[in-house]
Amino acid sequence: MSAANCGAIANIGFIVGDESVAVIDTGTTRQQGLALREAVASATSRPVSHLIATHVHPDHCFGHAAFSDLPVHSIGHRNLPRALAERGPFYLEQLAEISPDFSDTAYVPPDKTVSDTMRIDLGNRPLLLKAWPPAHTDNDLTIFDERAGLLWAADLLFAGRLPTLDGSLTGWLAALEILLSPDVRHVVPGHGPVSDGVAALLDERAYLTRLHDGVRAAIDEGLDISATLARLENDNQLDWLLFDTNHGRNVVAAYTELEWE
Ligand SMILES: [Zn+2]
Repeated sequence: MSAANCGAIANIGFIVGDESVAVIDTGTTRQQGLALREAVASATSRPVSHLIATHVHPDHCFGHAAFSDLPVHSIGHRNLPRALAERGPFYLEQLAEISPDFSDTAYVPPDKTVSDTMRIDLGNRPLLLKAWPPAHTDNDLTIFDERAGLLWAADLLFAGRLPTLDGSLTGWLAALEILLSPDVRHVVPGHGPVSDGVAALLDERAYLTRLHDGVRAAIDEGLDISATLARLENDNQLDWLLFDTNHGRNVVAAYTELEWE
């Protein structure tokens, strides 16, 4: 996120049914949310009925305030309200530091939460929302559009960019085993291009597996966290965006999880 990209780094969008529209993620700022609201209005005259947050990260759901005046159902994972309460003020400070343009942003907790699955219908357009056990974060929600065979995977899948671990490495690897059911034909990742998801998933699983195995081996050999980081920070080198920014943090996150196993 930077002032130059206006915080617009994640895939955000909407799905239109015969009666209404579900907006899925709203971007980093109120301005980005407003731009998305204009994009919805230019595509359809049907009202927005649902505002869905895929998880707590500010590049995904901090544009929600742009829709606050509408009579919408705001939906998120069961753990999202707590995550927003814990992290929200810090994220707002971070955003204000990146750019003064971001400083009028606010976060909006959901008024409906999903513990397991929830079905909503936009009018001949059923969507299945699924709350996942800890994986990318502890509040990941995916959306499956049955008619289109489209899975909105959000940050359970990064395409061409290094995934960032903020939940559970073992949980994420388990989620990837069942993410792509046979009826999924299109996948919207949290970052990167839309595809059938297969190649992106294999790449991500290979990276996370190698991260897991490298950290597990270091712990078994008695290495502490800084020795593990020194050993692994140039391992798993991939031609992916954001490797330098995120890989070291992933090693640390994996270590703090796996040392308790
Ligand atoms: Zn994320």
